[in-house]
Parts: sequence; structure tokens; C-alpha cells
Amino acid sequence: MTGGAAPAWPKPLPQPTPISQPFWDAARERRLSIQRCAACQRYLFYPRPLCPFCGATELVWTDVSGRGTVYSYTVARRPTARPFEPDVPYVIAIVELAEGPHMTTNIIGCDPDSVHIGMAVEAAFEDATDEVTLVKFRPAG
Ligand code: ZN
Repeated sequence: MTGGAAPAWPKPLPQPTPISQPFWDAARERRLSIQRCAACQRYLFYPRPLCPFCGATELVWTDVSGRGTVYSYTVARRPTARPFEPDVPYVIAIVELAEGPHMTTNIIGCDPDSVHIGMAVEAAFEDATDEVTLVKFRPAG
């Protein structure tokens, strides 16, 4: 801890690995950054050491638009774990990024019952701790 007064985050936190660390570093700076294959030019997510399309190992971290659409979702009306109890109802979704990859996330900033497949969304960043910023999505402005 760095003497900050940030309240303790009561929920599970992501555990960055050497491969995923750039994603978390970018999120802390309010950027959505994902890997792009230097060989076949496709974007990918989640972070990996190899391109799942062509097997190349040269993957370049690239800032993307943060825009996408809801590919699928569910509304959790009972908490998936006790720390999430205060949040119900909340939306767990798969967002299809404009660049192609799918990202599992939450949709925030709207009535859960207004979420629908195909809904335009944009990245929203939520500071969990001084070190970890979560990437969620909200209706596109
Ligand atoms: Zn590739």
C-alpha cells in the first residue's frame, strides 16, 4: 500500500501475469489495449503468447477504439458470489469489440433490463485499487 486512502476493494481482483500486464497497465491509463498479430494483422483477446489464427509470436499491443456491441448477456439477479451481493441486479456480458475480439465484462451505467443484443457500448474504466483498473462497458454516448 502506498499510503493512499483508497477503500479496500471487497471483490476478487484480477491477477495480472507477464503476458497480460500491458492490458492492465493501459486500463489504468484509461486506454483499451489488446494484442494484434504482426503477421496476419488480426486483433486478439484474451492476451496470449501466440496468435490463435496463424501461430505467429509477434503480437503487438495496440490501442483500440473501446467501441463494440453486446454479443450476449445475462442479468444476474442473485449474486454470483457473496461480494457481489450489493450489486444485484447486474449485467454480465460478452462484448464484441469493433476490432473483432470478444470480451467478457459487465455493462454498467444503465438499467439492466434495457440491455439488448446488438446494443452499442463503449469502454468504461473503474478503479478497483491503486494498481488495478477494471474494464467495463456502458451504453455508447
Ligand atoms: Zn496471426
